[in-house]
Amino acid sequence: MAQYIEIKTANPDSLLFYRMGDFYELFFEDAEVASRTLGITLTKRGKHLGEDIPMCGVPVHAADDYLQKLIAYGHRVAVCEQMEDPAEAKKRGSKSVVRRDVIRLVTPGTLTEERLLEAAANNFLLALNRLRTGSGPDDAVYGLAWIDMSTGSFQVGESDLPRLAADLARIDPREILVPDALLQEADLRQIVEGQGAALSPVPRAFFDSATAADRLAGYFGVRTLDGFGTFSRAELSAAAGVLAYVEKTQLGERPPLDPPVREAARGRMLIDPATRANLELMRTLGGERQGSLLSAIDRTVTGAGGRLLASRLAGPLTDPEAINARLDSVAYFLEEEILREGLRRELAAAPDLARALSRIALQRGGPRDLASIAQGLEATRAILALLDRGGETPAELTAARRDLAVAPHALGDELTRALSDEPPLLKRDGGFVASGYNADLDELRDLRDASRKVIARLQAEYADELGLRSLKIKHNNVLGWFIEAPSGQSERMTADPARFIHRQTMAGAMRFTTTELADLESRIASAGERALAIELEIFDRLAAAVVAAGEAIKAAARALSVLDVSAALAKLAQEDGYCRPQVDTSLAFSIEGGRHPVVEQALRRSGGDSFVANDSNLGPADESMVHGRIWLITGPNMAGKSTFLRQNALIAVLAQTGAYVPARSAHIGMVDRLFSRVGAADDLARGRSTFMVEMVETAAILNQAGDRSLVILDEIGRGTATFDGLSIAWAAIEHLHEVNRARALFATHYHELTALAQRLPRLTNATVSVKEWNGDVIFLHEIVPGAADRSYGIQVAKLAGLPPSVVERAKAVLSQLEEKDRRAPAETLIDDLPLFAALAPAPRRPASRAAQSPVPAAPVPDVLQEALDGLNPDDMSPREALEALYRLKALK
Ligand code: ADP
Repeated sequence: MAQYIEIKTANPDSLLFYRMGDFYELFFEDAEVASRTLGITLTKRGKHLGEDIPMCGVPVHAADDYLQKLIAYGHRVAVCEQMEDPAEAKKRGSKSVVRRDVIRLVTPGTLTEERLLEAAANNFLLALNRLRTGSGPDDAVYGLAWIDMSTGSFQVGESDLPRLAADLARIDPREILVPDALLQEADLRQIVEGQGAALSPVPRAFFDSATAADRLAGYFGVRTLDGFGTFSRAELSAAAGVLAYVEKTQLGERPPLDPPVREAARGRMLIDPATRANLELMRTLGGERQGSLLSAIDRTVTGAGGRLLASRLAGPLTDPEAINARLDSVAYFLEEEILREGLRRELAAAPDLARALSRIALQRGGPRDLASIAQGLEATRAILALLDRGGETPAELTAARRDLAVAPHALGDELTRALSDEPPLLKRDGGFVASGYNADLDELRDLRDASRKVIARLQAEYADELGLRSLKIKHNNVLGWFIEAPSGQSERMTADPARFIHRQTMAGAMRFTTTELADLESRIASAGERALAIELEIFDRLAAAVVAAGEAIKAAARALSVLDVSAALAKLAQEDGYCRPQVDTSLAFSIEGGRHPVVEQALRRSGGDSFVANDSNLGPADESMVHGRIWLITGPNMAGKSTFLRQNALIAVLAQTGAYVPARSAHIGMVDRLFSRVGAADDLARGRSTFMVEMVETAAILNQAGDRSLVILDEIGRGTATFDGLSIAWAAIEHLHEVNRARALFATHYHELTALAQRLPRLTNATVSVKEWNGDVIFLHEIVPGAADRSYGIQVAKLAGLPPSVVERAKAVLSQLEEKDRRAPAETLIDDLPLFAALAPAPRRPASRAAQSPVPAAPVPDVLQEALDGLNPDDMSPREALEALYRLKALK
């Protein structure tokens, strides 16, 4: 216990896996946490300060599975091993305890094991630090550094408070390191905690910017960082923080990282976390990959390709030249179909070079990792030959070919010669070096095999001599080789103790040895030992050669992933009929025959109706118009408004990722920020109602969107009373038009808003067409110019299976209401309200100012009457209706 407590005290923030024989045991609170998370039994063992000690344990051979689960729940684990044979501890004295030490800290961001990792997802560990740049509260810059230890990638960048959440969401780290002092600040804590990553507070000293450059240079064994490029102080400090943590968790072992690469965050489309989640780019709102944009477009065949595609999709580019370079690669593989399919077959069989390399360099690799390197290098050669048969390639692919050409093929050949066909997972027991590779090894193996034959002969001789058919020569780990005969028949051996030395008496048998047998045994054992030593030596030599060639292997692995992604996007374009988007620096946004990539696939799979393609055009209508336009889309529920909104956002994301897009044609003037406010879920955990979430997101958009942004707003104001909601939607459109001037799509069920088109020149009304047939409504899913005339709420409700009596009653109520309310309130508004522009102080100011401007009070005739007029039962959920009732009651 004293030893346990000492080790635990040194690792307070990790669960301690304390090795005891064949188990890792956990004690005290660790045991309680682990038993709850893993669903394993909690027991007791001994007492500490008079109290029972809670304990649970996991068998060593199955530890990986348990580790995986604990890590998935965001825990960190310190693995503590026995550092000596228990026999040695005994030698020191009867009270001596086996020496133990923590050999590794396993945290979500530092995994390298194949079984603990997802093949097609990066596993980033990110360090975040803030440096002050002045005395004001906002004078600060944030340094970010993130690595994937399983592949060696290492990136750094800068951010600032307003965009920090978006940057973190794009990188999507599994674990975030933050100086503990920073976590005390509420707003920062909220941003970091909102990422769904494991949070690891670390000492400020990790980030010391004065020594950061030295730490980095030390890690990479260089005198100066100049060769890597220039980095800001914030970037260096974050990079130092991430390296300090790596050294701490790997206990001094240095994983082979690439030199840090500065990521030009400003070269990326900014997508805030809410938009990212709402558009279901990487996973659905339910948290699954299936159903996301990524899963709909992912046709890659390798883990590394999957990871590259995911990271590209997470951060679409803003430089048309870079985007077009990627598109050129896709175009090439669209053209070269035979080459592409051959390439994909080769790629599919190639192992994950980067991850195997990383394990080998961290001394966690086994024979199979060496075999993976061999096979991977073999694949690079085959792929290179394939590409050479094709013609000239676009720039990105030419660069990939160069990297493949300089891959260490000779090393690959050496590995192939050295390794047996199906090497074991662990090097411990040998048996992975091919015969014919090393003459000494072959000789020892022969000796061992020959000795085995001699043993078989010996058994036959003894059996003959003693006339005992049932005599056997066997082997076990305790006795080694021995002669065994049934108890009743071993008299002749017992009678000759000088020759047959008694070893053991069993229930039904007796065991002996002879000098002859003992001799043989030691020959076999020493041959085996020497053979193993040679194999391990060979392993170490090959592993060292692989590590030495690490740079070239990684470059080849990256080249393969680029080829995989380009070929996969070409495959997608061909199979699903995608087109090459035209991306430039204009403000165009015109899409012909656009489709929703995910909904389209779902419809196809279900074999129902096919997807109805739709056009959109948000660019300036003509030369005289400087800014893009807003489309206001009305139409009944279920008509396809949300689908249309989202598909346009997704097409922009795909285009700037460098992918083909689901459309007949697409011309997109680069979008620098993407905003969306679409269907929200309650965020009750953070104490926000649906309406509050909606307003927070809307506020973010109105405060931040600029004329290069693309804004998608769906059903704003729905979560409150009709008048409130309508007014908010109204004001939001005016603000978007007058202040933000972004290209925008705005879907609403408030038909009143269509009146705004009369005076906002860049507002265009569009609606989703429906047909009425025998009192039923048929959705055509076609977006057409104009405004919806009615909401068809009752028809939709009927489709949903509302009881006929309720439908009939609702119709009656509706006609009464319509009778009363001939003149829509919005038309009155258009006449009575001054222009928003006249109220707003000056364009390009934050929304809050505009909202504070006084709006002339409308005459209030009768509050009750007004409130009643504002109710639209068709648009209300039962709960909203109940709330409305309470409000009316309170008015009296
Ligand atoms: P709204 O936002 O108007 O309530 P949605 O966009 O949610 O409607 O669409 C409702 C359903 O209609 C979707 O789930 C989809 O199956 C179908 N749908 C939408 N747009 C199309 C389309 N263009 N072609 C075919 N089906 C569509």
